[in-house]
Amino acid sequence: MDLNYTPEQEAFRKEARAWLEANVPKEKLKSFDTKEGFEQHREWEKKLQAGGYAMVPWPVEYGGRGANLLEWLIFEEEYYRAGAPGRVNQNGIFLLGPTIMDVGTPEQKARFLPQMASSEEVWAQGWSEPNAGSDMANIQSTAIKDGDHFVINGQKTWASRGAFAHWLFGMFRSDPDSSRHKGLTFILVPLDTPGVTVRPIEKLNNKKAFAEVFFDDARVPVEYQLGEEGKGWDVAMATAGFERGLMLRSPARFQDTARRLVELYKKTVASGQYVAPELRRTVAQCWMDAEAYALNTYQTVAHLMGGGKIGAEASLNKIFWSELDTKMHETALKLLGYRAELLPGSPEAGDVGEWLDGYIFALAGPIYAGTNEIQRNIIAERILGMPRK
Ligand SMILES: Cc1cc2nc3c(=O)[nH]c(=O)nc-3n(C[C@H](O)[C@H](O)[C@H](O)COP(=O)(O)OP(=O)(O)OC[C@H]3O[C@@H](n4cnc5c(N)ncnc54)[C@H](O)[C@@H]3O)c2cc1C
Repeated sequence: MDLNYTPEQEAFRKEARAWLEANVPKEKLKSFDTKEGFEQHREWEKKLQAGGYAMVPWPVEYGGRGANLLEWLIFEEEYYRAGAPGRVNQNGIFLLGPTIMDVGTPEQKARFLPQMASSEEVWAQGWSEPNAGSDMANIQSTAIKDGDHFVINGQKTWASRGAFAHWLFGMFRSDPDSSRHKGLTFILVPLDTPGVTVRPIEKLNNKKAFAEVFFDDARVPVEYQLGEEGKGWDVAMATAGFERGLMLRSPARFQDTARRLVELYKKTVASGQYVAPELRRTVAQCWMDAEAYALNTYQTVAHLMGGGKIGAEASLNKIFWSELDTKMHETALKLLGYRAELLPGSPEAGDVGEWLDGYIFALAGPIYAGTNEIQRNIIAERILGMPRK
């Protein structure tokens, strides 16, 4: 096993680093969960696209630069190193994009991928419904064919950035007599379709980017069906694999947090504040876990590049990164002591408030992309071969 980078990979890293150093906005953008921040992030995405860095592993004709997955990991490392903005179109570029690449028609690839890579069109994920969260096979929203359109009725909820997004991808029951995993179709819905109502939901942080989406006889052309009719579940599972297994949370994100945590620890010690020995051990453990996650991801990428697929082990990843993220933020708050409660906007906060913001978001990690309890069920049944309850 050779753990060194090739000269080509090193050259790619250097080139990406130079571009990012020259182009990453000097001032932090506003949160992409606000309308102003959302548009600022779209501008940044356009710049990335113009520089050829929007989605490095995508083929050139779809707006990528034809890099392989290892180079994508290198790019992500440089991206976090440069402190570049979060990816506002992550549902599109990391989840739907690879799915379209897998099962989309040539027309769908040409129509959607370049617009996605530039964030001209930002995507929301419309899977959850009021009675279909963990139990996603209980989806009740319907999409019934009428000539060359689907007529959609029902409700989706918890769509991240749904309040500002342009499109939504979701699963709908296209066979009204079907139940559970059968008879569902994966459909791409323009959010400005007549009969679609988007209603923002305010989060704990007062931001209103989350949304519930209502469909009342919304007519969507059949060419927006992704994959086979009635086989939406299989398409969605591929998307979930990308979400849990590789793309959504690259290791660089957690390595960056771990690095910042180590810095915070050193600063706290240097300030003369007492730091309990168990916190010192936790900081070291977090750093090691972030490194372990990176090495594990390199292994996954090598497996994929050798023609393998991501299976149920994506669930192991999801539990690992979400629990690590919570642990790192929790530890930072302990190090900060009473200062941990300063909100990012408060005059005394400096960069302290970002830890609280990060902590609040980290708490959602064990819930979104499928709760960790559900991931543990998947591991028990599909990896360990334990019987279903
Ligand atoms: C920050 C955030 C962003 C999100 N973004 C999106 C999005 O963009 N698009 C989207 O469609 N959804 C999104 N979601 C929704 C998310 O996917 C759901 O919240 C999640 O799937 C859980 O569903 P639920 O909320 O209905 O909870 P429930 O399914 O009602 O679960 C409640 C609790 O019961 C547990 N539970 C349920 N069934 C079992 C079981 N069989 N075994 C063991 N425990 C079980 C769960 O683990 C959970 O702890 C987001 C959620 C969050 C927090």
